[in-house]
Amino acid sequence: MEYHAWFQCSEGCDEKYPLNEVIYRCRQCNGLLEVKHDIDLLRRRSGAAWKEVFNERYMRTQYPYGSGVWGKKELVCPNIDNENVVSMYEGGTNLFWAERFGNEIGLSNLWIKQCGNSHTGSFKDLGMTVLVSMVKQVVKRGGDIRVVMCASTGDTSASLAAYAAAAGIPAVILLPRDKVSHAQLIQPIANGAITLALETDFDGCMSVVQQLAERKDFYLANSINSLRIEGQKTISIELVQQFDWEAPDWVIIPGGNLGNVTALGLGFLIMRDLGIIDRLPRIACAQSAKANPLYESFQNDFKTFDPVTARATIATAIRIGHPVSVKKAINVLKKFDGIVEQATEDELANAAASADRTGLFNCPHTGVALAVLLKMVESRLIQRDDRVIVISTANGLKFPEFKIDYHQNKLKEVQPQHVNSPITVEPNYDTVMKTITHHLKTLN
Ligand SMILES: *Cc1c(COP(=O)(O)O)cnc(C)c1O
Ligand SMILES: [Zn+2]
Repeated sequence: MEYHAWFQCSEGCDEKYPLNEVIYRCRQCNGLLEVKHDIDLLRRRSGAAWKEVFNERYMRTQYPYGSGVWGKKELVCPNIDNENVVSMYEGGTNLFWAERFGNEIGLSNLWIKQCGNSHTGSFKDLGMTVLVSMVKQVVKRGGDIRVVMCASTGDTSASLAAYAAAAGIPAVILLPRDKVSHAQLIQPIANGAITLALETDFDGCMSVVQQLAERKDFYLANSINSLRIEGQKTISIELVQQFDWEAPDWVIIPGGNLGNVTALGLGFLIMRDLGIIDRLPRIACAQSAKANPLYESFQNDFKTFDPVTARATIATAIRIGHPVSVKKAINVLKKFDGIVEQATEDELANAAASADRTGLFNCPHTGVALAVLLKMVESRLIQRDDRVIVISTANGLKFPEFKIDYHQNKLKEVQPQHVNSPITVEPNYDTVMKTITHHLKTLN
């Protein structure tokens, strides 16, 4: 069966554009585009049959279907030939059963979706494989794209640089100078991207990259480009699959530019439309109190939205004051009876560290989501036996400065409650044994 998808205005205009066209906004109203699928055609296969197809492919070797994204190709981007797919077998990330952490806070069914266990260490790989594959197909068919480019708070650039390098396409990266971690900065450098450090914040980089994007031969890889959203949609499909196709009660996800929360919702909606699930979870979007325009809007039932100037936060990847996908995100959240909650620096750092002590190793953005989880348990919005999924967006190993500074009590506005430091001891049995005994007592 030949499935197809196309770009269409996300605000209701009816003009369609092919997915291989270099276009990001509606020609009629300048709204963002979204990828639409021929749902009637997809529905000719039953929900049960789709599950079977997806289960057969999941994490197997037949290229590219073993990828968590391309295993759902028909719901993501059917228009790309398999030979043009640029995949690193993204997706297929584990669900960490947070048994101990759940017990500590009174939950029996808490899971962390480890999207950071991925090639470049964040969920951004899920969308980037789709976007770069499309570029590869366009270039191969004689299209005139010279570079792929993005503005980034760190993870988008790491992902774009890796996929572009794998495809042999030049990448240009715009980063806010001194506002990303060393690990994030070294990734595009290592992958050979043209890496520009701009003396501004993310929103400033975004505005320059949008000007560059007026050139048709410079392809924009920010999530304003809805091809990325299609790949990220597989987060919800995959996590439902991991529960034998049962939808959870709550999903908590950190939000900055708000593409990922949009994608999460769209994944659940298409599964419902195809009869793969019969109910929707509720969604909570978690923001840093330093960059919280959606939280402010939610206080007002989303009736108004005002961009803010994002202030410095440890959760650097969501330091965004003017999120591009805000309209889409609000539409999605309304369909999920969604909520928006925020976390302070102190709350996010201590939540991350507290969960680390039960075996996790959380990035600060996951810390924001965990802090929001604690508030929702406290306010009884989340009940003891609810199945709750926290989306961990990046690997903690990408943020060593955050971890080290926490345990050395060097983070601004944070009173660390779970500090642990290496203990220097004399190299002899007695002192070592005495020290261990002493510290074992303090653990209990
Ligand atoms: C990009 C990113 C986010 C935010 O996703 P948006 O789609 O911008 O809302 C959250 N956490 C990490 C680690 C990220 O890289
Ligand atoms: Zn429009």
